[in-house]
Amino acid sequence: MPKPKLFIPGPVDISPATFEAMSAPMIGHRGKDFETLYASMQPGLQAIAGTARPVFLSTSSAWGVMEASIRNLVRGKVLNLCCGAFSDKWFDVSQRCGKEAEKIQVEWGQPIDPGAVRAKLQEGGFDTVTLVHNETSTGVMNPLSDIAAVVKEFDDILLVVDTVSSFSAVPIATDELGIDVLLAGVQKAMALPPGLSVFVVSEAALARAESNTDRGYYFDFLEFAKNGAKNNTPSTPPIALLYGLQHMVETIMAEGLEARYARHEANNSLVHQWLASNGFEHFAPEGFRSRTLTTISNNRDIDVPGFVKAVREGHGFLINGGYGKIKGRTFRISNMGNETAESIQDLLTALNEVLPEFLG
Ligand SMILES: *Cc1c(COP(=O)(O)O)cnc(C)c1O
Repeated sequence: MPKPKLFIPGPVDISPATFEAMSAPMIGHRGKDFETLYASMQPGLQAIAGTARPVFLSTSSAWGVMEASIRNLVRGKVLNLCCGAFSDKWFDVSQRCGKEAEKIQVEWGQPIDPGAVRAKLQEGGFDTVTLVHNETSTGVMNPLSDIAAVVKEFDDILLVVDTVSSFSAVPIATDELGIDVLLAGVQKAMALPPGLSVFVVSEAALARAESNTDRGYYFDFLEFAKNGAKNNTPSTPPIALLYGLQHMVETIMAEGLEARYARHEANNSLVHQWLASNGFEHFAPEGFRSRTLTTISNNRDIDVPGFVKAVREGHGFLINGGYGKIKGRTFRISNMGNETAESIQDLLTALNEVLPEFLG
């Protein structure tokens, strides 16, 4: 059975050119060749991340850095902003790290309200806030700049932002917004195989980490800073993945960031048109919808697992049948990574062919 082409919100489809780049001969990671590889990616990664600070590379999926942010930064109490599967989980992770944690919980499908964040922080005692920019389970894109502005109203509260499914697909002004840790896994909008994360740590966050004794070793931000200054990583990195990352950074810079943002928005609109013309509704409210994926409400009550299976078996495309507690009540289509108007149109044509069998 050939593998289906992925339109799930991560991992996504990888280009043959990326796989080819990944198959270059191995090098040692404590030598000049590696330093050159590492350094070559910094300017592109900094442009994508909207920062003048170094971009660190972690041999882990995003959760490694999400947990690391809690361990490196939280001394008093963390506020986790929860609006879906990934952001909700962060509260659980904070507690498992032994930290005092509180949350703002909104109903799945709703965005985080900056006013509610201000009110909660005014209660006092918080030193860290976590936010998932693009909540991949619900298709909600949170108002990042408004929330960042609220956190900056408070002294000594650090903001950690997960941009796993928005990084490189929408502009993210890390330095301008005063984000203290920005992180992303590469298997979503960066269109690479999983296993690597990129992240940025502010001066203030490094200072906080320094005063925190619970950092551990593998994810110690100070180790990343020390090694990063020498164009290196604390432990052996996934060098083949870094070849892929170098290829993707070059590809992204050649496309141009503005053109990449516009392509994601245009392809996302094609999916929006498809759902509207088929009588489906958005799970996320207008004004807060992701541009890298669409979470579609199953208001027409179709057999979602059957639909997903029919699209896969009949056309070789894999979409997602909903995440966690909204499985079946929703389904999701990704337009992240290398997708084009043509490839999205091919998927929508397939959906059109299959859908009539599932409508009562
Ligand atoms: C996929 C995803 C994650 C999970 O990352 P892992 O790679 O599984 O560690 C976290 N946050 C968001 C927003 C995601 O979309």
